[in-house]
Amino acid sequence: MAATKTTKNKIINTKRSRNANNSCWFCENNIEPDYKEVEIIKSFLSPRGKILNRRISGTCAKHQRKLAKAIKIARLMALIR
Ligand SMILES: [Zn+2]
Repeated sequence: MAATKTTKNKIINTKRSRNANNSCWFCENNIEPDYKEVEIIKSFLSPRGKILNRRISGTCAKHQRKLAKAIKIARLMALIR
């Protein structure tokens, strides 16, 4: 049991360290997520149209929240799938 725990922690740690230098795209470019900017929003979606999580996209908590709202509005308005 203890061995499995440590291996799990190791996997998580390596994932985190790999993505540690991932900085938020919105913070870098000083842009706020907007439902009207479809091309930007599309880059944060998976091929199946799901919202990418923070670990993969590297966005900060604040912008991830705004991005999720923007994507949901864009979906409602049929701008994206
Ligand atoms: Zn950010």
